[in-house]
Amino acid sequence: MRGMLVAGNWKMHGSMHSTREWVAMVKAISSPTCTRVMFPPFPYLSTAMQVATSDEVAMGAQDLSQHAEGAYTGEVAASMLQDIGVEYVLVGHSERRQYHAESDAVVAAKFLAAVSVGLRPVLCLGETLEEREAGRTEEVIRRQLGTVLDRCGLSAFSEAVIAYEPVWAIGTGHTAHPDQAQQIHAFIRSQLAGRDAKLARMTRLLYGGSVKPDNAAELFSEADIDGGLVGGASLQAVDFLAICAAAS
Ligand code: PEP
Repeated sequence: MRGMLVAGNWKMHGSMHSTREWVAMVKAISSPTCTRVMFPPFPYLSTAMQVATSDEVAMGAQDLSQHAEGAYTGEVAASMLQDIGVEYVLVGHSERRQYHAESDAVVAAKFLAAVSVGLRPVLCLGETLEEREAGRTEEVIRRQLGTVLDRCGLSAFSEAVIAYEPVWAIGTGHTAHPDQAQQIHAFIRSQLAGRDAKLARMTRLLYGGSVKPDNAAELFSEADIDGGLVGGASLQAVDFLAICAAAS
């Protein structure tokens, strides 16, 4: 079956020193039943991998280019990430959609770029507060997910992870109520089931949005929540480990 996964998205935080310390602490505590993935800033990926030296912590990148290569200053190609041993990549995080104007079409192109070199995309979906208050949550999720499914095809999802991250819950301390999160996770699974029942059963659905050590267990006990994508609380290894323990 699916198995739990907890991912730490450091965003633009950390240093070479804190990266080394974090990986050393996390790898010292084994986690047989929960896959752990860290998403440090690009410059610290290699540092993290040097310290990791084991299967205890998988590496993820926070973004990638939709292009394979070329004159795109500042961009990082999927093949470069794959080349250095990165396994996962975030696609469509709300901060990319919001601050870098990434459309559903761009998100789909990045998803395809990741899959084409064997990276596992973590596709982020989620509504804004305005959209939720207007009763448009399911419509937004259907559109965000549907665009990627239509453009990339079902087979592209075989190694993918989906993260439901309500934008109003990210970095705000306003965690979605477990019932609220479960309802949207079940909706996402039903959208997948509408395309392929096995894919719906096998795809891991993470919740993201102010997950903390003290609310993780309740969220992870929901039937369709298979772990978390954790921002702020992943920066301290002890908090990240506590959240992983809640998933184990
Ligand atoms: C995130 O960065 O994806 C996130 C969910 O952040 P936080 O846990 O800080 O809300």
